[in-house]
Formats: sequence, structure tokens, C-alpha cells
Amino acid sequence: MSTKILSLVLSGLILTAAVVSAQDWRSGIPWEKPPIVTPGAKPSDPPSDAIILFDGTNMAEWNKEWSIVDSELHLVPGDGDITTNRRFGSVQLHIEFATPAEVRGRGQGRGNSGVFFGPYEVQILDSYNNDTNYDGQCASIYKQTPPLVNASKPPGEWQTYTIIFNRPELRIDDGNLLEVVRPGYITVIHNGVLVVNRHELLGSTAWHRPPEYEAHPPTLPIRLQDHGDRVRFRNIWVREIPDVNVRPAPTREPYFHQ
Ligand code: MG
Repeated sequence: MSTKILSLVLSGLILTAAVVSAQDWRSGIPWEKPPIVTPGAKPSDPPSDAIILFDGTNMAEWNKEWSIVDSELHLVPGDGDITTNRRFGSVQLHIEFATPAEVRGRGQGRGNSGVFFGPYEVQILDSYNNDTNYDGQCASIYKQTPPLVNASKPPGEWQTYTIIFNRPELRIDDGNLLEVVRPGYITVIHNGVLVVNRHELLGSTAWHRPPEYEAHPPTLPIRLQDHGDRVRFRNIWVREIPDVNVRPAPTREPYFHQ
């Protein structure tokens, strides 16, 4: 390319950039400045705005005790479910779990537990070489959808869930559900793999009847299930997040910023 052509091309690019920058489009929404959050050293570490639900030391955030052994939370069958003392709406939850290293039972009877957001369960199960109903395997939204893929690790190994729970908005009068204004949504990342992509909740997740929404308060405890298997947990933290699709109204027409 000759020098002359090159300089023509360059001046054309500069002119184009100038025109584009003069047409910087703005929405007219007065967005607030995003708060600063200090991330953890590793993605599994809690960021500065997380509420620590279990860090290996105590169960102050829970309604009762499970056994703490070597800084791990051990579910002993018969101890019953545990729920957080706090109630949550929409959240990002991080939790690590391990199903029993010694394999016993099959199907739903192998390393079963679960993370519940009110009446909505993300299944915990030993799904490593263990087929069961697919909408009941590990990382399923119980009886509503299987995970996209099976990202389970072998029995006994530590696994992670990052769960994004967006609460439903329900219109309730005198304890009766009048309308599902906005359904709930759940996203699950299992061991770093996206396995449930913004599943629209169909209602409560029960084993003995179809899903159906029921009246409940806008905030609810998070619950870990005792399903009779010795599942272990560690490093549990949660971040409260704004509800989806809540967007401030523009205070002016969209415009081009000079
Ligand atoms: Mg379960």
C-alpha cells in the first residue's frame, strides 16, 4: 500500500471515530454508581458484601446445630433439616458439598440432600455413575428440570454450587395466592459448569404432586435437607441481590452525549 493511500485510510478511520464518539447514545436512565465490592482471593472465597452462613467455626446463622468436624459441617441422618435464621429474597449462594465416599444405595437413596430456597429445591445427590429420574439427579430443579449436563464429581470429592435465585413476586391476600405477578428463576453453576440456565420456576418442588405456586412471604430462610445420607458441607455464603427486571424509569428521553 502506498503512503498516500495509507494516509487516506488512516484519516478516514480517524474521521469515523470522531463521528461515532459524537453520537455516544445514552438511555436517559439515572443509573446509580455500582458499589465497590472486594472479591475473594479465589472465586470460591466470599466477597466483601457476602453474608457468611458457614465458615467452619460455628452455626450461629442456623436454627440448630449439625456436627462440625475438622471445620466441615456433617449431616448426621436423623438430625433433621437446618434453616437459616435470616430470611432472604433474591440471592447468589455459594455452597460446597461432598456426598459419602463410601457408596451405599442407589438412585435417590445415594448421597441425597438439597438446598431449598423456601419451597424450591436444588437437588443434591450422588449422580456419579448413578442414574435416577433425570429431573431428580444432582443439580436438577427437583421434578421440574434436569441439569443441562451432569457435572458431578466422584463420591467423597468436594463439589461447588453457585446458585442464582430470583424470587417470585406473588400477590397474596389474607394468606391466599391471588396471582403470580412474576415467576421465580433459578440458575445453577455446578463445579464451574452452567447446568441450569435461568429456569422459570413452575411452583413448589414436591416429590408427590405436580409443581404449583403457593402463598409465601417475599423473603424465606434457606434450608439444607436431611434426606438420611451423610453429606458434608463447607464454605457457605450468600449475597443479597436486587430482583430481576427491576429497572428505574428514564428521567429524560434517550439522547446523544457530546
Ligand atoms: Mg433432596
